[in-house]
Parts: sequence; structure tokens; C-alpha cells
Amino acid sequence: MSRARKFQTCPRAYYFHYYGSWGGWKRNADPRVRELWILKKLTSRWAWAGTSVHETIAWALEQAKEKGDLPPIDETIERMQRSMRQEFRESRSGAWRFRRALGLVEHAYDEHVDDVAWRDNFEHARSCLINFLESPVLKEIQAVSPESWHPIDSLDSFTLDGFTTYVAPDFAFRDESGRLRIIDWKTGARRDSDLEQIRGYILFAMEKWGATISETLGELHYLSEPDVVRAEVTTEALEAFRQEAKASIEAMRSRLSHIEENVAEEGAFEAKATPSKCGRCNFRGVCEQSVA
Ligand code: SF4
Repeated sequence: MSRARKFQTCPRAYYFHYYGSWGGWKRNADPRVRELWILKKLTSRWAWAGTSVHETIAWALEQAKEKGDLPPIDETIERMQRSMRQEFRESRSGAWRFRRALGLVEHAYDEHVDDVAWRDNFEHARSCLINFLESPVLKEIQAVSPESWHPIDSLDSFTLDGFTTYVAPDFAFRDESGRLRIIDWKTGARRDSDLEQIRGYILFAMEKWGATISETLGELHYLSEPDVVRAEVTTEALEAFRQEAKASIEAMRSRLSHIEENVAEEGAFEAKATPSKCGRCNFRGVCEQSVA
């Protein structure tokens, strides 16, 4: 889904992210390749807030699995805030250019973000985390043994029509009634593609954990509102997802110069430059087509 979203937004940015930056970590990398690799890892402040919440949720659940109970709420919130403060300082210092450290696109491009906006971002992350800690689903998760939980927020893959597809569902568990619940925590606004994403996770879960359609539920938990949206799980809905995914994969592959070797040329990926897209693009500093 993230590949498809990037490809639709701007094929040139997609090329930079997945092909142009490849090998940028090597000591003798071409300077442009290296720069693309550094820029690709930048994140926006909103995505950073979401990642911080997700990492803290994963940590809290791992703690509960290991120690039998969740850490105290204050400790959980403080842990996330401490980590965000440290990452903010590192990003502002530019450390991400030279070593493994968080880099925010706002710092990289010297964007003007006032203190109120930074504080709002911290507060948004904090309130999403509190909403998770107070959510009814957390009580349902705790009501069953951790043996009914599936790996938390870890990268896995499955085969979709012959293509390796990577997934990282936030959480899945068998609830007290035996249903397999696939959970995705969202910290941003609702997007149409959220339902598509969870259908991909459902296909993965059914294959990986051997569940049937009737016993599987997909849930989107919007933590900032807070609200829960349940994805319809029917043969038709999953088949529609499968067809859309297949068309999307074919559209991306059709641009490759050597499909089997996964080789791409920059010229085959047009730039869809608009002020709003380029203004949010990680690559605006090196892209010749940028109108930011
Ligand atoms: S700067 Fe604009 S045109 Fe260039 S890759 Fe980014 S979005 Fe595309």
C-alpha cells in the first residue's frame, strides 16, 4: 500500500525512494545516491508523532506479555515524551546526516514551524497514547492470555498472486469468543486507503494463522477521535482488494526496464510536480522538477 501510494502521488518520488537511493549506505556510494538515501529516511512531524505512539504501544504490550501487566500509565507516557524530546534535539542538530538518528523534514528544509505547532504535535501524540491506554479493546486484549496474541508490529510477508507482499499489522489476537481480530491503530485523519490496507492484513492473517473469513475481523482504531471502524470481511471485498493490488503491482512493474532484475531508469518515472506535493516531498532539494 505504501509503494502504491507513493507511485500514485509522484512516480519520480517513488523512483527516488525505491531505486535511486539504492546503495546509498555504502561507503563509496555516488554522492547523489547517498543524498537520496539520506533524504528518503526523513519523516514529517505528523508521521513522527504516529511512529512514536505505535512504538510506545508495541513496547507497552511487550511489557505486558513479559511481566503479566501493562506498565503504569504515567511511566508509559513519560517514556514516549522522553524519547520524542531526545529525537527532536537530534533532528534539530542534523545528526541524521552522519549517523543513525531521526531526521525531520521540517529541520532538513529549515521550514518555519513555531513552538505552538511543535507543542501541538507532542500533545497530539500524548492524547492518542492516552486514548489507547483507556480503550475498551485494550481491556479485551488483556482479558485473554498473551498466548492468544500474535507478533506485535513486526514486519512479515505473504504471497499475493505470486508477489511477495510485506505487511506489518499493528496487532492481532484471538478474543474470548475465538475471533481473530486484526487491529490497526491510526493517529492521523481517516483515509479511503485505510480499509484497503486492513483488507491486505486480513488476507495475510488468514494465510498465516489459518483463519476463515467468518472468524476474522479487521478493525481500524482512530486514536485521536477516538473511534473504531470495522472492515467488512467478505469473499467479494477481499477479492476486490486482490484485484486492485494486482493492477497496482502491474502498473509499477510496467515501468521497469528489466522486470526480472527489478531495474529501473529515472526517465521512466515522470514527475507529477505541484506546489502542494513538492512542498511535502522529501526529495525537493535534489529533484530538478520540484516547484516547491
Ligand atoms: S519534488 Fe515534486 S516532482 Fe520532484 S519528486 Fe518530489 S513531488 Fe515529485
